[in-house]
Amino acid sequence: MVIARSGLTARFPARFTLVLAANPCPCARSAAADAACTCTPLMKRRYMARLSGPLLDRVDVKVQLLPVGRAELLSDRQLTEPSTVVAARVREARLRAARRLQGTRWRFNAEIPGSELRRTFRPAPGALVPLERAMDLGQISARGADRVIRMSWTLADLAGEDKPRLSEVGCALGLWLGAGL
Ligand SMILES: [Zn+2]
Repeated sequence: MVIARSGLTARFPARFTLVLAANPCPCARSAAADAACTCTPLMKRRYMARLSGPLLDRVDVKVQLLPVGRAELLSDRQLTEPSTVVAARVREARLRAARRLQGTRWRFNAEIPGSELRRTFRPAPGALVPLERAMDLGQISARGADRVIRMSWTLADLAGEDKPRLSEVGCALGLWLGAGL
């Protein structure tokens, strides 16, 4: 990480995955099916506003997790996808990205600078339409838009596609916006 301020540039070597968790409202019960939550919409908005915009701007994936129900707790765990299968899929996606980035100084989609996303690593023609619309509506910053494009490359790698299509860009945008939050 490089931080540049007036006349001073400091370099902090750091590569990490940041995972944050927050309750949806002060009482933390609003996500339950039998919602016993009495928080008003204003209280919820104030509560969520405690997370600063510049911080949320840097979070690529925002998802709402619902409480685990009784049926899920008692279900046959064999039906869920095992970690080994997921790991194989991730390995394959990483290989795809590595092949594409061969000869560059980047190893992961997350490392590609914004200028290169526009020059060399452009999504498929027309794929950026939902992102452009979100920018027109002021729903996303320029920084956020670059992050959505990087994420759509990773989704394309997971799907075995050569380039992000409309579906990958739309999905990445939905994850960035945190639909439902
Ligand atoms: Zn509540």
